[in-house]
Amino acid sequence: MKVTLLSFTPDPERVVAASARQCYSKFSATRALRDLTDADIQRLLKKVIESGHHSVLEHASFTFAIEGISRACSHQLVRHRIASYSQQSQRYVKLDEIDFIIPESINRDDKLRSEFYEALELCKTCYKKLLEEGVPAEDARYVLPQATPTKIVVTMNARSLMNFFELRCCLSAQWEIRRLAEEMLSLVKQVAPHIFENAGPFCVTRKVCPEKKYECPKWIELYKKSTV
Ligand SMILES: Cc1cc2nc3c(=O)[nH]c(=O)nc-3n(C[C@H](O)[C@H](O)[C@H](O)COP(=O)(O)OP(=O)(O)OC[C@H]3O[C@@H](n4cnc5c(N)ncnc54)[C@H](O)[C@@H]3O)c2cc1C
Repeated sequence: MKVTLLSFTPDPERVVAASARQCYSKFSATRALRDLTDADIQRLLKKVIESGHHSVLEHASFTFAIEGISRACSHQLVRHRIASYSQQSQRYVKLDEIDFIIPESINRDDKLRSEFYEALELCKTCYKKLLEEGVPAEDARYVLPQATPTKIVVTMNARSLMNFFELRCCLSAQWEIRRLAEEMLSLVKQVAPHIFENAGPFCVTRKVCPEKKYECPKWIELYKKSTV
């Protein structure tokens, strides 16, 4: 999996803080954008995040290029509706070499891995045969499995990203989308450290476990207890 932060709102924390400042003062966001000190920005961000005034976080957007995730993972990703997506088309792009995504639970077992590869090879061979026979790529793709890799560009605002991290950085989320979410979180933390300072799964942001999995290693690590 390769995740790149392609672009983001310039000075995202200043923009969010200036928007928040305007809500609470008679001065304009333009003036706040110019005059706010770094300390003001940190204070305002803390205030809006802690108070739940999260709509101001929507003024900062982040665009990621994601490569080498499975179609299973991209399907989970696009369930997050408050986002914009551009995914490589299987109608227009014929896949030449397909580097399938193999889950570790299969990869670590020699027998399972070889059976899995055998099935994938059958799919790949059939896909190529269908294309050679003149079947359009949009129909030939029906034989491709969920392990097929894809590329997708996604843009989310900071508020939606917070929600995405709460759901997908959780140990209950599947390993692939969790890895993706963790990668995205580490990228946005580099450019908006105060917005995303406490971002992560629900147990981090809200100190609750909606799944009630108190035996979860993350819960135990955070709260040093296995029951509530
Ligand atoms: C561990 C896990 C297991 C899951 N299992 C399943 C499963 O078995 N089957 C399945 O179908 N899905 C499953 N999902 C997907 C899940 O139900 C959500 O579709 C997905 O996580 C997107 O979350 P979201 O709706 O909060 O995100 P977004 O679509 O980005 O929405 C963000 C927020 O906006 C608000 N919102 C968006 N659209 C609406 C709307 N139409 N009406 C009201 N409010 C709205 C909500 O507050 C929502 O939380 C699973 C997710 C996780 C994390």
